[in-house]
Parts: sequence; structure tokens; C-alpha cells
Amino acid sequence: MKYDYLVVGSGLYGAVFAQQAKALGKSVLVIDKRPNIAGNVYTENVEGINVHKYGAHIFHTNIKEVWDYITKFAVFNRFTNSPVANYKGELYSLPFNMYTFNKMWGVVTPEEALEKIEEQRAEIKGEPENLEEQAISLVGRDIYEKLIKGYTEKQWGRDCRELPSFIIKRLPVRLTFDNNYFNALYQGIPVGGYTKMVENMLSGIEVRLSVDYLENKEELDRLADKVIYTGAIDAYFGYKLGNLEYRSVRFENELLDKPNFQGNAAVNYTDRETPWTRIIEHKWFEFGKDENGNDLSKTVISREYSSEWKPGDEPYYPVNDERNSKLYEQYRNLAKNEKNVIFGGRLGEYKYYDMDAVIKSALDMCEKELKK
Ligand code: UDP
Repeated sequence: MKYDYLVVGSGLYGAVFAQQAKALGKSVLVIDKRPNIAGNVYTENVEGINVHKYGAHIFHTNIKEVWDYITKFAVFNRFTNSPVANYKGELYSLPFNMYTFNKMWGVVTPEEALEKIEEQRAEIKGEPENLEEQAISLVGRDIYEKLIKGYTEKQWGRDCRELPSFIIKRLPVRLTFDNNYFNALYQGIPVGGYTKMVENMLSGIEVRLSVDYLENKEELDRLADKVIYTGAIDAYFGYKLGNLEYRSVRFENELLDKPNFQGNAAVNYTDRETPWTRIIEHKWFEFGKDENGNDLSKTVISREYSSEWKPGDEPYYPVNDERNSKLYEQYRNLAKNEKNVIFGGRLGEYKYYDMDAVIKSALDMCEKELKK
């Protein structure tokens, strides 16, 4: 049979589209090159712990439409992200808030903290032109040197002066004692794991796993009137204009026979020398309990190493610097000529999307595509 839509990739963008299309009576086939659904939000249960196999995913949003949508497919717990920064054994609270300023400078009141920041940000004259200048103008040089520079250079493999300033604007700066990493009205982790949530979204929809679209493109294209492509846009075009750059991540997972390794879901190693960027201790996303509410006696940790993407690696983060943004625009022009293909998601749009923004962008696309 011929389907209305072939959805390439079962991550959030693909799952939202497939779910909405099915709900409107369209026929949909979802394929994924991996042996499992859920893309990079995939979680795998190890000893009762939902392990975020492709890195920590903490759902947060200010968009009520997105929250109302996603909570149809999972119950979310009350997890609030409060990472700890470890700089050569000194621990700091993140994001940058009164606890951080107190530890860094001994200041006690918001006024004292602001005074320190203003004194240090004075070195930046005019509009910040790169991540370094942006960071110093947000929180001053001390915090830049201890909590931002090393981490960012490990994470992006580039000098902070060569990175766009928007990356650091993702982090809040607060003159209150508030360790919540996100400025979001809604936040949490789906109880039972993200894989289960995506499974619920794809309920009743045909899914074929371990199918590589680009390797069988002609044959698969014949199966449907239209394609929703959520893979890398440069890969779709055989890299013919050159590679877009991505950062990739490698995880070293360990199951430890102890109940508590670091006392927090995320600890960032913000010095330059420690080779990993952060360590995730997955059980704390669900308060150290299994699905029945019992304490878990073991723990799983993942050390996260950042690297430059090369063919064969998984792409994670688009590098939205000038060269790549220009190249992406050229690919986008090619994409416009592919009349029966819609490109979407972090890889399809080469955009540093958070989960909620991906869902929003998919819902908006559905509105245009399915309800016309
Ligand atoms: N960042 C930092 N120090 C930290 C955490 C983050 O300098 O301890 C900077 C870094 O440049 C990073 C950016 O903030 O790329 C965004 O961090 P976020 O935690 O939002 O990244 P993600 O969770 O998407 O990897």
C-alpha cells in the first residue's frame, strides 16, 4: 500500500508528526536507522534505572500548548535541574545565582553581588561580539574563567572568542537563591522513561527499525506521497556542498555497586584539564527510586566526552558559527526544491533546539501540512 507520509526518524519531531497525522486519519509509516525508537531521547532501563543513553534530557518549557500536548503521553515528575559545577574540587551552584556569587566572592547580598559583576563586566565595551565577551558582560571574568571557559572549550572544541554569544545566553543569571537551571514554567522527567513516552506517541503506527533511509531512498520514497525527513540535511544531499560541522558526544557508562556516587544528576567539570565535560548519575532524575518507589542500591553514571563529528559518528550539536550558518542556508535552498520532502528537527533544520522547541516546531508544521 502507499502511505500518505513516510517519517524518517522516530525522535521527537518525527513522533509528533506521526502522532498528529495518524490522529487526523492519515496513513503513516515511521522508519529509523537505529534498532530502537525515540532518537536521542531514548532511555534504557538498567537495574531499574532509566539511563539517558544519548545524554541527559530534562524536559522544560514555557509553552503551555507544548506542555498540554506532551503530558498526554506521559506523567512528568517534579525533577528540577540544578547542576553542580566542579572546578578543581571547588563546588559551585549552577546556574549563576546568589549561591554561586557567595562561594566565588563571599558576597552576601544581591547588591554586593551586582557590584562585583558590574566592576568585572566593565572591561567589555560595546555589544559583546562573541561568547567570551558575552559571558564576561553577563557575570564577570572570575566566573568566566572558572565556570565557563574550560567547559565551553571542551564542549565545543573551539576558542570562546570564536563561538556565537547566543550559546551562553541559554543560561540564566539571577540575583536570587534559585538553583533551577531553567527559566521554565513547566519542568520534569517522564515517569517510566522517554522511550515509553515516545512509544505512547507512536501507538498504533507502523514503525520499521534498523532501516537506513538514505541507503534505500528510491525504494522507500515509492512507499509514500510525502516524506518527513528528520536526519541531517547535509547527509540528505550527499554532502555535496561540503560537511556541516557538528559536535558529537561519547559516553562512558558505568554501573556501580553503591547507592550514591555524586549526590546529584549532573556535575559539570568546568576546568580545562579533566577530559570529560560532565558526569550524569541517572537515578537522580527519578529521585533514586525504581518504578515501585523503592530505593535503588546501585547506580549508573555516564562520563560525557565531547568531540568533533566525523563521518560515522552520531551528530548531536550543530555548530552555528558563521561558516556553518551560511552553508546551512545553501542546503536549505536545495531543500526548498524537494517538493515532497519536509525537513525538520535539530538535524533537519541544523538548529540547537531544546525538546520543547522541537515539539513546537513539529506542531506548527502539522498545522500547516495536515490541516490545510
Ligand atoms: N556552560 C558553561 N558552563 C557550564 C554549563 C554550561 O560554560 O557549567 C555553557 C557552555 O558554553 C554550554 C552552554 O553554556 O555550551 C549551554 O549549556 P547547556 O547546559 O544549555 O547545554 P546542553 O545541556 O544543551 O548541552
